[in-house]
Amino acid sequence: MIKPIFGILVLISSLNTAIACDFKDISFDANYDQGGLARCEQLSETEFILHIEPEDTPINPSPWYNFTISSKVATTVSIAISAGDARPRYLPKRSLDGSTFEAIPFTLKDGDMHIAVEVNQQPVMISAQQVIDNEDYVQWQQTLTEKTSLLQREIGKSTEGRSIYALVHSKPENKEWLLLIGRQHPPEISGAQAYLAFAQAMFIEHANESFLNRFNVLLVPNMNPDGVAHGHWRHNVKGTDLNRDWGKFTQAETQAVYGFINEIIQAEQRIVFALDFHSTQQDIFYTMPSDYGLAPALFSEEYLADLKPHLVSSFTLRERPGSSPGRGVLKQYLADEFKIHSITYEMGDNTPLEMVNHVATQAAKVLQNKMLATPPEAFIFKPE
Ligand SMILES: [Zn+2]
Repeated sequence: MIKPIFGILVLISSLNTAIACDFKDISFDANYDQGGLARCEQLSETEFILHIEPEDTPINPSPWYNFTISSKVATTVSIAISAGDARPRYLPKRSLDGSTFEAIPFTLKDGDMHIAVEVNQQPVMISAQQVIDNEDYVQWQQTLTEKTSLLQREIGKSTEGRSIYALVHSKPENKEWLLLIGRQHPPEISGAQAYLAFAQAMFIEHANESFLNRFNVLLVPNMNPDGVAHGHWRHNVKGTDLNRDWGKFTQAETQAVYGFINEIIQAEQRIVFALDFHSTQQDIFYTMPSDYGLAPALFSEEYLADLKPHLVSSFTLRERPGSSPGRGVLKQYLADEFKIHSITYEMGDNTPLEMVNHVATQAAKVLQNKMLATPPEAFIFKPE
């Protein structure tokens, strides 16, 4: 580490690999799973610009930051969080335990977010969103496998050799599979939270025996563990957007899932529906159009219509049908390859956690009923 020199740029790191910066009394640290901080610039004893950088460019800008601050003496530190030309997406949050986060006030100047943080020796975490890191998934998976019929299986390794885990519910006599994909894009935490709540509802709080007796379920909650570890904005470590790689399968992460899909096909079983969890500015369900020639034609449309009355009236259910052939998006790949519907399930970046959980719980409950109400032959596409 380079020694800080007062008043000028002090630390530079390539990518947004987590770093630590130590000044006289004040230290910043992002040297842990999902940390995001590229370099620190000191302006005065208690004023800093913290620079965050994407893993590569060009990239869809979702500036991720996550670091802790501590100070040998109690003081207030003024920080500008700067992502260069990228506009801020995630509003700053503060945590003392790394699990409970509260929004903190900020002002926007020249595209940088300015915050003031009271600090002492106990590290304060400042983060773009709440944290769901690789270890959180491991613990969550353990809880689910202990409490449910789900079995954990390593389906492959990421580019950097991290395990890509699936949780699998299957019965030998079942032929139909539901596929649940999560965390292709590392900073999309509200989508990740929706994933956890959805799966828990489906297998614990609202587990439906008839559903589990008919359908198998493949869960891949964390598709991009390298990106999560490095605090990436969107890509894997090869600079690829995984949700542009379906059907191409050039990446270790998508290949891992494809390996399992291939097993399903080899066993003469079939995927009948899928959900892929993400975050964006608003709550949006991206569907395939009802006239796209998928089986059953109206499945997503009817599912969301069934879901709507189960949701609190303050939630706006936005359904956006569309197609994008050849772009490598999971929903498009499943439509073109298997003639089935799936939904890109997007939660708003700022949708409150309670709402994310409420919607996911109801979505899991209603999906089980909708799938059960659909006869097996209706899921099989028949050309005219
Ligand atoms: Zn996404």
